Amino acid sequence: MSTITQGGPSLPQERRVVTEIPGPRSRELLARKQAAVPPGIGTTLPVFVTHAGGGVVVDADGNSLIDFGSGIAVTSVGNANPRVAERVRKQVGDFTHTCFMVTPYESYVEVCEALNRITPGDHEKRTFLVNSGAEAVENAVKVARHATGRPAVVVFDHAYHGRTLLTMTLTAKNMPYKHRFGPFAPEVYRMPLAYPFRWPTGPDNCAAEAAAQAIDAINKQIGAENVAAVVIEPIAGEGGFIEPAPGFLPRLAEFCKANGIVFIADEVQTGFARTGDLFACEHEGIVPDIVTTAKGIAGGLPLAAVTGRAELMDQVHVGGLGGTYGGNPLACEAALGVLETIENDGLVERARRIGSIMLPRLRALADRHPVIGDVRGRGAMVAIELVEPGTKEPDAATTGEVLRRAQAEGLLTLTAGTYGNVLRFLPPLVIPDHLLDEGLGILEKVFGDL
Ligand SMILES: *Cc1c(COP(=O)(O)O)cnc(C)c1O
Repeated sequence: MSTITQGGPSLPQERRVVTEIPGPRSRELLARKQAAVPPGIGTTLPVFVTHAGGGVVVDADGNSLIDFGSGIAVTSVGNANPRVAERVRKQVGDFTHTCFMVTPYESYVEVCEALNRITPGDHEKRTFLVNSGAEAVENAVKVARHATGRPAVVVFDHAYHGRTLLTMTLTAKNMPYKHRFGPFAPEVYRMPLAYPFRWPTGPDNCAAEAAAQAIDAINKQIGAENVAAVVIEPIAGEGGFIEPAPGFLPRLAEFCKANGIVFIADEVQTGFARTGDLFACEHEGIVPDIVTTAKGIAGGLPLAAVTGRAELMDQVHVGGLGGTYGGNPLACEAALGVLETIENDGLVERARRIGSIMLPRLRALADRHPVIGDVRGRGAMVAIELVEPGTKEPDAATTGEVLRRAQAEGLLTLTAGTYGNVLRFLPPLVIPDHLLDEGLGILEKVFGDL
């Protein structure tokens, strides 16, 4: 077994399976986890990581797994990315915290300036920083309610917005996110999502019908004048990488604009080049009033942001927003390293290229294996939905089986979907082509063996 002393891109970019997965050392650690951590904190693949970088994750037994997960769309620039690591290393020696609300520092402002510049729309914007995606969404709703003086929030089927009281209420799926955690926050209303694969009258009518149903329900059941915000993921992430049928998002955005409703795009999973655009809203030219970001923003350091129209954001009174750790200086330096990397290394283009490699291979796989009912996604945010052949009946069992077999072969990937029947692929944008190819080869083999 080769010794590895560093993470980051200097890790050998190879798949290497030297024990069963998980191996003996990971199993020992898993036993300790089970004794120390409650089972509510689940584990997709119980290998304990010692190093990660480029397109691989290395475990305590010396296995090197191909990474098709990026820690859930977080390490898009690669784990221990050199620009991120260098900036954080310097910052940790200078100072680690002052609380931006007590005594500020430049890097926080620089991150906000950058987000104001690169998020969709050339209107005047403001940004503030928090610690997690949930906190960003929750704060976006606070701003929208404050600015509009209205209570209601509209969300969609298959939505995922986080695990705090308000954001778990915004989230669609009961198990595991909401079950027995109620009562939930009031004034949250759920509308149909334009899910092309599952729309009852077929994909062609999906956008117009779904938008009409949502708008009608808003008008009849809530009253548009009572709605503070519409919150939507431009591609539903945890819900199964559902791209709303083209036209659905623009229609909703137009309705919001006409009715003084704040259109909040939750780009926590889709942001920062993941979909082959810097932000997924750009694909249909949507200009949201507020954008929430997190995951890919800072290479794994905890950071999230709320970016919105200046005239909305400036409404909130002094001291009405914030938090002790929000915009921690280490996380801000990391974000600046991420933004530099996306730009200098052409990662938007790279995400498109990854999509152009993955999608055709997966479509060919679906042609051979009717258990794959749908192949979808953009850029490096790609998924397959598994069904009982010839139907649209979700097949979660086969999905789980494919996941387990792929993991045993050294491919780390994730599931998603309201019905648990979606395999999603989120490789780091810096993954080398040969690992992308090998990972797809493993999927082909696993489907062939089923
Ligand atoms: C992950 C996610 C969140 C929640 O982010 P956390 O950092 O886990 O709180 C919110 N919205 C979307 C779209 C997400 O994918």
